[in-house]
Amino acid sequence: MQTELADFIRDTPEGREAEAILRKCVHCGFCTATCPTYQVLGDDLDSPRGRIYLMKRALEGAAVTDRTRLHLDRCLTCRACETTCPSGVQYGRLVDIGRAVVESKTHRGALERTRRAMLAWGLPRTGLFGAVLGIGQWLRPLLPSALKTKVPAQTRGAGSWPAPRHARKVLALAGCVQPALAPSINAAAARVLDRIGISLVEAPGAGCCGGIRFHLNYQEEGRDDMRALIDRWWPAVERGEVEAIAMTASGCGVTVKDYGHLLAQDAEYQAKAERISALTRDLCELITPEMVAAGSKRGTVAFQSPCTLQHGQQLRGKVEALLVRAGYELTAVNDAHLCCGSAGTYSLLQPAISGELRSRKLAALEAGAPDVIATANIGCLTHLQSATRTPVRHWIELLDVK
Ligand code: SF4
Ligand code: SF4
Repeated sequence: MQTELADFIRDTPEGREAEAILRKCVHCGFCTATCPTYQVLGDDLDSPRGRIYLMKRALEGAAVTDRTRLHLDRCLTCRACETTCPSGVQYGRLVDIGRAVVESKTHRGALERTRRAMLAWGLPRTGLFGAVLGIGQWLRPLLPSALKTKVPAQTRGAGSWPAPRHARKVLALAGCVQPALAPSINAAAARVLDRIGISLVEAPGAGCCGGIRFHLNYQEEGRDDMRALIDRWWPAVERGEVEAIAMTASGCGVTVKDYGHLLAQDAEYQAKAERISALTRDLCELITPEMVAAGSKRGTVAFQSPCTLQHGQQLRGKVEALLVRAGYELTAVNDAHLCCGSAGTYSLLQPAISGELRSRKLAALEAGAPDVIATANIGCLTHLQSATRTPVRHWIELLDVK
């Protein structure tokens, strides 16, 4: 697409990157077919092609309105469009740039600003989130039904975490909300890895990956979280104590794998960020089927592959192979490429679209009457579990079952 960027951005790193991406888009519209928001809303401006056009206009200096921002807000950043695009358009990177520009040229109402600021302030604070969740669970019987669905009735215990005993060591990311919502996930990962000769260790104080604030358009604050996390991990990385950094939440994994890009303009952190990204693996990249004890007749599973796994990290089929090896039977899931509507804070900020996508996803997942739904991201897990009685688990918890 021919573009003529405005002076305010043309000669900046963001401008150059945006221009290169925009030039790749031939406006063919293939991506609209796999865009969840286009499927729900049917408006071309709520499709990748429409949003790319809106961002192009904004970057060319055209007037930006609240409607422009609304169409970008409605985007899940699921990146299904990237998987579909035959021209290799990096929509996710473009929308990061476009959102920052549109945010700076528009003004949100006080209520919306407050809500977003509270999410950006509160969610990355692991201790605070855990305390609020505990109070919410205590008061749950008294909560209105809309709020009740957001608060899981109980948190499953973590179980034991094997002491480090192997020469092979891998760092784990505790994350921001996962330790409170599902401490069982990282503990299960530690047990499974321990059985195959790898010790999983957490660095003290290593919390949020920065994705929450970055994607709420607090981009610099998100980068602060990234730098803080690098500082926590760096001593173990620098001393060569760990061979990899394991991600048990694909939403965090897609962000950490992008640190090298997201901190490319930071002279102090750029090299460290690249090293951290290069070491980062989703858990399903660390465990191969040959490492898993073969099993049979362990029940039926519908696997929900998070967008951050299948589109963001382009990892497809790996978890499914591990579950089959362990003895689970996979049920068929239609439209498996579509987002479940969780998308970080999206489910809180765009509840109507998010709820519709969840209903569609659950119908697809439950069509084969599975015993359990498995996923690879804490956000998807809690979002789906809030609307179904079918148990929803992280896949590593299923591998941990003896
Ligand atoms: S993003 Fe890709 S698929 Fe979508 S309109 Fe542009 S070139 Fe076509
Ligand atoms: S990231 Fe997802 S919701 Fe956003 S335009 Fe692409 S396909 Fe649509």
